[in-house]
Amino acid sequence: MKHDSGELEALIKRLLADPAMRDDPLYFALSQLWQQYRDLLNRVERITHVSDAYQHIARQREQSLSMRFDKHLRQLEKVARISDRYQQMLRDLNTTLQEASTHDALTGLANRRLLLERLKSEAERSERNQRPFCVAMVDIDHFKRVNDQYGHDAGDAVLIDVAQVLESEVREYDLCGRWGGEEFLILLPETELATALAVLERVRDCVRQRPIQVEKQSLTLTVSAGLAEHRLDQGYADTVNQADAAMLVAKRSGRDRCWAGEAPPTGAV
Ligand code: GH3
Ligand code: MG
Ligand code: MG
Repeated sequence: MKHDSGELEALIKRLLADPAMRDDPLYFALSQLWQQYRDLLNRVERITHVSDAYQHIARQREQSLSMRFDKHLRQLEKVARISDRYQQMLRDLNTTLQEASTHDALTGLANRRLLLERLKSEAERSERNQRPFCVAMVDIDHFKRVNDQYGHDAGDAVLIDVAQVLESEVREYDLCGRWGGEEFLILLPETELATALAVLERVRDCVRQRPIQVEKQSLTLTVSAGLAEHRLDQGYADTVNQADAAMLVAKRSGRDRCWAGEAPPTGAV
């Protein structure tokens, strides 16, 4: 077809260029048609050109859009990775904060705040279940002498050691914490006084049996403990005070011993 139209164009060009054709009555019509045909061809070419240009621009836009999309996607992925890392850091920080606010920095045991929380919830549970629980106050005997003789750092190391012995000797469901200084509180849930006393006697024995190394010397330490069973008609703070008073009775009675229950009338021990 294309070949035919080429031949036809060549024929018309020849006819229009032929001087003999000038007098032909169809010459004018043919030349007009030829002109219109040329105009149309020009217009089609311009339109094709414009359309090509548009297509080129559209392709470029498409390409740059997809490149921008890819770039944004990469940036988003990077931001997501950073955000994941920050969230992990926040979670770790929260765990550390939680640990720091509930545990003693020196010994790693529960601190007074956590002990008080657990005492409160244990008192509530005891009231609901009508089950007893016990509190033991444990104090290292003559601890000041360790500090005086070997220095405060050695005293700290001894505290860490004793804390480890206490924690490893209490039962899994008991909570051992540092009440303050060289005093430790042990909470024994769902336990009657007689059982708690047996546990504390074992703990006390373990401390005495385990020599503690201080500056290449082996020290034998002892602890005194006071125990109290929580009564449903009293607050947990009263139970702690009672355990504290019992611990002082153990001290007055010669140390390295446990005292369970009410303190005897003043002067009796
Ligand atoms: P007792 O048998 O009557 O309990 O005598 P003690 O010497 O153990 O008791 P006292 O209350 O006289 O002394 C306790 C000492 O514990 C005094 C204090 O400086 C020391 N202490 C308290 N907290 C720490 C601590 O975190 N590190 C060290 N190294 N010593 C501490
Ligand atoms: Mg002491
Ligand atoms: Mg003390």
